[in-house]
Amino acid sequence: MTDAYEAYRQKARSWLQSIESEFGREARRGLTEEQDLALGRRYQSAKYAAGYAGINWPEDFGGQGLSHIEKVIFESEEMKFGVPSVYFGISLGMPVPILMRYGPDKEFARERVIKALKGEEIWCQLFSEPSGGTDLAGLRLKAEQDGNGWRLNGQKVWTSWAHYSDYGVIVARTDPTVEKHKGLTYFWVDMKAPGVTVRGIKLAGGDSHVNEVFFDNVRVEDNQRMSPVGGGFAVAITTLMIERYIATDSGGFGPHLDLFVDLAKEVEINGRPAIEDGRIRSAIARNYAMRAGLDSITARAMLMMQAGMEPGPEGSLNKLVAVRSRQKLSELAIDLQGNSGMAFEPHAFVKEDWSASWLNAPTGRIAGGSDETLLNTIAERILGLPQDHRPDKGVPFNQIPA
Ligand SMILES: Cc1cc2nc3c(=O)[nH]c(=O)nc-3n(C[C@H](O)[C@H](O)[C@H](O)COP(=O)(O)OP(=O)(O)OC[C@H]3O[C@@H](n4cnc5c(N)ncnc54)[C@H](O)[C@@H]3O)c2cc1C
Repeated sequence: MTDAYEAYRQKARSWLQSIESEFGREARRGLTEEQDLALGRRYQSAKYAAGYAGINWPEDFGGQGLSHIEKVIFESEEMKFGVPSVYFGISLGMPVPILMRYGPDKEFARERVIKALKGEEIWCQLFSEPSGGTDLAGLRLKAEQDGNGWRLNGQKVWTSWAHYSDYGVIVARTDPTVEKHKGLTYFWVDMKAPGVTVRGIKLAGGDSHVNEVFFDNVRVEDNQRMSPVGGGFAVAITTLMIERYIATDSGGFGPHLDLFVDLAKEVEINGRPAIEDGRIRSAIARNYAMRAGLDSITARAMLMMQAGMEPGPEGSLNKLVAVRSRQKLSELAIDLQGNSGMAFEPHAFVKEDWSASWLNAPTGRIAGGSDETLLNTIAERILGLPQDHRPDKGVPFNQIPA
């Protein structure tokens, strides 16, 4: 890391320390989700005022015009403070950068982007459907031409933060008679428009940040279209790739390994401190080695970025390995705690509570690319293995057996 980047890290850390008592983990303890969101909006506004929102975005869209490296440095510091940024992660991660790039009305886009950066507006991403999420090109929600606009009919599912969202980006099928990925078109939608119904899904961990979203004859204007008609698949893939530069957490966004070591010192196995047990020591060593390996991959990606190169597909290892390991370690921690390990604390933070971490880990193994999808990426792009057989290749969508 060069001196300039190190200085940026120090400056970011000092700012985060200065706002910690107002927005950090302790300030959030015991808040309801609505109160936490309100705090999050104030945090996002403070971040904007301090020049830490849109770090690598163009200045005329309210950004700072810096590089991906400063952005990743800030995020890796920010995640240590437990600030309420989760509500804006998807919004600022994918839909809003896409609006900035493909929004047909630049002035409208600019206004939305700045409001989103300040936490005043939230966007969601409406891709996955009940018929499937991995196979994005297989989606069924229809957009039919209606005068100089369109009518949307169908359902999306697993839409994060749809219940707080003002707008969303959506991919719809405009032509079922062509190959599946050729008949899709990309729009932005007003989540408060007549005919949009959002229904929460309760997750095992107790929260309901994901939703089903129903579209019943929802009108969108043609100037809400963000791709050529039939060209939506390419914009959808760009959406999924646009946030390639994100801070990673080799702990899989679960508790720090130090917390496990502390626990192993506190509890006993057969009348001896658990930390003296060979199986526990081996689990700690394995987890440490795994985290060190992933941190090295991240450090290498940072060095590549500094040298002006693109980090490679090895980034897909991070989530796959880290979240699986977090799940295993959380399970072991719950076992060590005995009956009290099963106590459920609805306001617990995943980063410091083993049962919250364990209950939430499965969603981490699905969202943002399931384990199997990541294994496919590793097989094809890192190991160079052949692609899966695709029996639907070249077949019009409406002739693929359901
Ligand atoms: C917490 C959470 C938040 C989410 N937020 C959003 C959001 O904001 N917006 C949004 O659009 N979606 C969101 N999703 C949906 C997510 O993108 C999908 O769940 C994911 O893409 C998998 O799709 P699916 O659940 O339909 O499973 P499917 O695609 O039906 O897959 C079922 C199983 O088959 C496996 N599988 C599928 N295809 C292959 C293949 N080719 N090779 C090997 N195995 C395969 C999968 O890995 C999985 O185990 C979210 C999901 C979660 C859990």
